[in-house]
Amino acid sequence: MKNLINNNNFEKLKQNFLIFKNNKNLIYLDNAATSQKPDIVIKSLVDFYEKHNSNIHRSIYDLGEVATDLYENARQAIANFINAKYEEIVFTSGTTEGINFVADSWGKENIFSGDQILITQVEHHANFLPWQRLAQEKGAELKFLNLDKSNFLLKNLSQEDLDKLINSKTKIVALTLDSNVLGNIWPDDLLERIIEKAHSVGAKVLLDAAQAVAHKKIDVEILKPDFLVFSGHKMFGPTGIGVLYIKKDLHKNLRPYQLGGSMVYSVFCDKPAIYRDAPNKFEAGTQPIAQAIGLKSAIDFTNQNINFDELKKYEASLTSYLIDKLNLIPECQILGNIDMLKKEGHLVTFYIKNIHAHDLSAFLSKNNIATRSGNHCAQPLFELLSVESSLRVSFSFYNTHEDVDLFLDALKEAIIFFEKN
Ligand code: PMP
Repeated sequence: MKNLINNNNFEKLKQNFLIFKNNKNLIYLDNAATSQKPDIVIKSLVDFYEKHNSNIHRSIYDLGEVATDLYENARQAIANFINAKYEEIVFTSGTTEGINFVADSWGKENIFSGDQILITQVEHHANFLPWQRLAQEKGAELKFLNLDKSNFLLKNLSQEDLDKLINSKTKIVALTLDSNVLGNIWPDDLLERIIEKAHSVGAKVLLDAAQAVAHKKIDVEILKPDFLVFSGHKMFGPTGIGVLYIKKDLHKNLRPYQLGGSMVYSVFCDKPAIYRDAPNKFEAGTQPIAQAIGLKSAIDFTNQNINFDELKKYEASLTSYLIDKLNLIPECQILGNIDMLKKEGHLVTFYIKNIHAHDLSAFLSKNNIATRSGNHCAQPLFELLSVESSLRVSFSFYNTHEDVDLFLDALKEAIIFFEKN
């Protein structure tokens, strides 16, 4: 095993994860599905339930006020993390709910017959199905930014192409920042040009940061989306919590997604209710209180321990090391832009000819190696690539070059086993 980049800091951080103490030989290579949780995140959940549990925004007693403060401090921490304003942060259950929120509340009021919705061919089902249904229900057209199959990047578009693709009929452009299958799919500056063009025709932009948020700095002032979504559980936080950033300009006219609880000032029998201001009007019912506090803890952990530039270099070194070794296996076909992945990747998806990825994943599991197999909730992409299923290895800072070596040894064993049987 060659420790190509010896990153002692990241290796030390792994000691903060009880899961690795409780599962001594676990090689966890499924971080794109969900990340592991540092002990302080778990502790923050236990602390909340042991010391502060009560409902928020409605309890006129000390315990409830402390819980409310903890929840609202979490909102502020998340706003700071992505350079947003406090009131632009809405808690959801995850990326999926965030996108459904926008498609339902903004979409139903702003998309009409003949309008166009633009997404890419690589979207996760979460950023595909809500738009497809909305388009069908409204008689709108779902259009795609096409993948260039020769290099696994989105096809770069001239200004003339962009002007044709994004026009006065385009009402929303909903794009993933990072594909959960291919990694980065953006040629230099295309994303920036698309966002600029969308805004110039009055279209809104939604960015799916589910994969990106644990690996790169997200700054809404730089990216300039109208909506941006991500999930807590992929960035060292708990499950059941996500973030929907809604640009302040849209708050006034945006219909709440769900109704109920304390998101209103006044409710009447004979006239419509008066909603509170954002963010409260967008959070109906009892909020995910403990989960938001846990997510703040994950963000504090990230702020204290992770420098995104160093992280990118480290994860790219693992990715590059894995790709070089996979390239020596003749039956292996990598899905993704190799140059891009080696430079800034954090995952590698591939298939081995004539061996089903589920079989490989099950074989690897016998060696305590966790990987993801299948179509990764991106069936349209797999259909486009004419690939049935694939195996994905996805990294976080607690992975090492030794993990990659152990994975490769087990993979080679698996290939020999399945070729014989
Ligand atoms: N978008 C992308 C790019 C994803 O990778 C995922 C999760 N795999 C989602 C959306 C959905 O996230 P969640 O299941 O946490 O809602």
